Amino acid sequence: MSEPINVLLNLAPQVQAAPADDVERYRRAMTDLALEQSVREGYFLAVMEHVKLGMYLFDRSGSLVQANSQLNKLLKVAQVETLPGVSMTGFCNFIVAQLGPLALGHTRIEAFAALAKSEVKASLNLVFQSGQVLQVAHSPIPVSTLADGTLTGGGFVHTLEDVTERRKAEARASHLASHDALTNLPNRRLLKQHIDVALNDSQANCAVLCVDLDRFKAVNDTLGHAGGDALLVEVAKRLRQCVRGADTVARLGGDAFVIVNSAHSSRDEVAQMAERVVNAIAKPFDILGHSVIIGASVGIAVAPEDGDSPDRLIKNADMALFHAKRGGKSSYYFFDIDLEARAIERRKLESDLRVAVAQGQFELHYQPYFAARQRKLSGFEALLRWNHPTRGRVSPLEFISVVEELGLITELGDWILREACHAAAAWPSDLTISVNVSARQFINHDLFASVERALTDSGLPPSRLEIEITESVLMENLNVIEPVLERLRRKGVGLSMDDFGTGYSSLAYLRRFNFSKVKIDRSFISGLADENQAIAIVRAIIALCRNLNIVVTAEGVETELQADILRLENCDYLQGFLLGRPAALAELPGIFSGAGRPLLNEVKRG
Ligand code: C2E
Ligand code: CA
Ligand code: CA
Repeated sequence: MSEPINVLLNLAPQVQAAPADDVERYRRAMTDLALEQSVREGYFLAVMEHVKLGMYLFDRSGSLVQANSQLNKLLKVAQVETLPGVSMTGFCNFIVAQLGPLALGHTRIEAFAALAKSEVKASLNLVFQSGQVLQVAHSPIPVSTLADGTLTGGGFVHTLEDVTERRKAEARASHLASHDALTNLPNRRLLKQHIDVALNDSQANCAVLCVDLDRFKAVNDTLGHAGGDALLVEVAKRLRQCVRGADTVARLGGDAFVIVNSAHSSRDEVAQMAERVVNAIAKPFDILGHSVIIGASVGIAVAPEDGDSPDRLIKNADMALFHAKRGGKSSYYFFDIDLEARAIERRKLESDLRVAVAQGQFELHYQPYFAARQRKLSGFEALLRWNHPTRGRVSPLEFISVVEELGLITELGDWILREACHAAAAWPSDLTISVNVSARQFINHDLFASVERALTDSGLPPSRLEIEITESVLMENLNVIEPVLERLRRKGVGLSMDDFGTGYSSLAYLRRFNFSKVKIDRSFISGLADENQAIAIVRAIIALCRNLNIVVTAEGVETELQADILRLENCDYLQGFLLGRPAALAELPGIFSGAGRPLLNEVKRG
């Protein structure tokens, strides 16, 4: 654009000297030149009017001599040309008077004035406090000497372009590339830059906090993606309120957020920040008209001990986060070296479990439960066992959650149902089998179909199967689970609420889902003999269940005294080491061979 203009700007063409000996030709040449010059000036003015940019010309004495009408528009005046003769400084003042002061921290007006003296092409941006940005391009006009020795040319021409919108678009594009579109928080790229800056500031002690939401998936499942998105936006706002202005809150995607504490903070102060985060997120959210309760877990890595690069710090904070989540939700945890060892241990467990599922290293044990009054065997609960070649027999508490996380629970859960139903089909027809199911079996998988297959294949009547589900599983995935439970109930399968009293203990849910049985958690039974409160709770649960027509099992009965108290309180069923430990199918007492129903004592002896 500027190139052709500059050619035209060269108002006085470089004239080859006329032959000194030919005066006539010299005179003619001079006349032609003058003519040509006025024609060129005409061209120049036409071009000035033609270009879309504001344009003005200062002569070599430093006075404004020409401006185009686009400049009038840019400077919001009727005619800049009324200014001619004004100096560059006067012109600068005029611009500021018209468009307002320049923004601080950008080109100063003195620098703009100095541009006039540049002997080379140059450009700069004038950023006004109003947000307007004008780009100035400076072209000096060479000075030429005419044949008669007079000087011509010199001065300079400026073009002025309003680049406000272009600059805004560029800023938007660069913002998009470094920010999360949903929450407008910095993304991973910008986060790393911020950590780098914090690490380079030797005054500061930078800490990285990885934040992950508990139960976010349940919100997504129940309220849909619109609900999930709305929740993330609200979480982002609360996180920002937990930090100071200089700290960074970033979103890595999903429900993973990272906070960079870049102040000179002690470990205690960082812990306080983590606590603020946990507390802020634990408060109910109002999402699409629903009250939503989630939680946050936080993992923390502190520089330089836990890492001296953004990647290392994020990785270690993430490892601490993983530990926080496993050790109970809504908590925070500082990275320590042991974690690394534990993470390696965990990866080993994962790979062992994959092999275990593939090779079928599992076995079911069966623990009996009895009608309390009649002391008659009523059925068995199937309890999973993992027999590992070197680890030995591993408790389900240690691996069920890992199996779930690995997505292997579908396969394993199918096997448990089939195995348990097959075993029960061979028992006397009034014995039931109880099978524990976990949340993932409902969510990623058609539990109903799996139950149906197990029943059909084994020939076990649905009424002899009971599904055990814990309150927490139920509450966290209500919408997904409700229809499955309803189908199971209609099919005639029993529904049992496990570990009752440890979670929400919601009687409304007992009714809504038509539970046929409640199992009072072991923790209340162990306190029966010497805690008044435990008796009061057990009594209340039994009374309420009686009203709702739900039978009650006491879990973890270990002493005769506990069993006696439970009978007095009219508990329907008893289960626990006192009455029988879980045992492999082959080790179950010969209860099914004899004629009559086995009595409690016989089973115990076996
Ligand atoms: P749960 O469903 O509450 O099972 C009862 C647990 O208490 C069993 O532990 C059982 O061995 C133990 N127990 C029974 N009577 C007594 C007693 O008198 N005293 C004491 N101290 N403990 C007693 P286990 O077999 O280690 O299972 C632990 C948990 O693992 C189960 O708790 C259940 O939540 C889960 N689990 C077990 N098998 C399965 C399964 O097949 N599928 C799923 N999803 N979870 C399972
Ligand atoms: Ca159970
Ligand atoms: Ca239980």
